[in-house]
Amino acid sequence: MGDKEVIRLKDVFRHYHMGENIVKAIDGINITINEGEFVAVMGPSGSGKSTSMNLIGSLDMPTKGQIFLDEEDISQVTESDLAQIRGKKIGFIFQNFNLIPNLTVKENVMLPMMFQGEDIYKREQKAEELLDKVELLDRMDHYPNQISGGQMQRVAIARALANDPEVILADEPTGNLDTKTGERVMEFLQKLNDEGKTIIMVTHEPELAEAHAQIIYWLKDGKVEKSTKRKNGFKVVEQERRLIKKHSKKRKTPAKKKKGA
Ligand code: ADP
Ligand code: MG
Repeated sequence: MGDKEVIRLKDVFRHYHMGENIVKAIDGINITINEGEFVAVMGPSGSGKSTSMNLIGSLDMPTKGQIFLDEEDISQVTESDLAQIRGKKIGFIFQNFNLIPNLTVKENVMLPMMFQGEDIYKREQKAEELLDKVELLDRMDHYPNQISGGQMQRVAIARALANDPEVILADEPTGNLDTKTGERVMEFLQKLNDEGKTIIMVTHEPELAEAHAQIIYWLKDGKVEKSTKRKNGFKVVEQERRLIKKHSKKRKTPAKKKKGA
């Protein structure tokens, strides 16, 4: 670990032209993420969290600005090289799992390795190893609709690990799971971080950010409103929790006065 930079966004903008209007999904962001960090991205709906994840994962390109992956400017890389880099360096986990329904659990995990040209024996062996890691080896021949949501997300974690990426991007990985199942998924993400993987996770749940992330980026209207580093556990995050409460009150009608207040 230490201070080796893995991802850097330098003055990044992502604007969408919608007829007469411009949607400023990302509006000038500077972020550096170092190797081995567990980063949480928080912010209200529409603040640009998913857009920033897609940019970081080079699924999307900025309208302006530069993105560096291992200090290499990805806008200078050809599309086919980029696909290769993306497949090798980055693993994705999505809120709705995105497993392929007509492939078995094991085949889903094998798929990204095929795009990297691994032979079938290696693919099978690695898929089983990874499914063992997420404790789903006994489900490898099931189809996604034959397992639970929490299990699907663990399959997605195994799939994300297929090409030994340095970085795992998770966009609300527990968003469709109940608290207990979500915690189990988080256990695995935490384990990966303990093993040295860089994790970047979008979440709406302050408890998860507080329990796992070392740094939280707060997005608002496509900008980083602020960032907080976890120093001594919960104290810092206590403040953020109050901030979230304050923000969510502002959006609603003014709070009622308590009786007797
Ligand atoms: P979040 O993940 O924080 O909820 P998003 O990154 O998905 O937010 O979206 C940020 C803003 O950009 C929103 O206003 C959204 O409507 C807009 N947006 C996202 N994707 C597109 C698109 N493909 N075309 C036009 N506008 C988009
Ligand atoms: Mg989103």
